[in-house]
Amino acid sequence: MVWQEFDELESAREKAIAAMRKIPLAPSPEEIKESSNCRQCRSYFYRQGPVCRHCKRRDSIETYLKKIWSCKEKRTMLFSLDDG
Ligand SMILES: [Zn+2]
Repeated sequence: MVWQEFDELESAREKAIAAMRKIPLAPSPEEIKESSNCRQCRSYFYRQGPVCRHCKRRDSIETYLKKIWSCKEKRTMLFSLDDG
């Protein structure tokens, strides 16, 4: 079970790194247009377009961060069980 958690964490890490490497130094006009119509990050402007690349990258990074916290909480629980 611990190894499965580790494999999932490693997989999420690789996806997050790959997502970060795809971030351009300056967004292309196409990417700006895509982002301006994104239903996820421009919902407050009532945009209904497809989820933009920026949001997809952010999702990968957030998934990795959630995995880190999940593993950290489980590890804390295991150590607290050992103490009792
Ligand atoms: Zn977006």
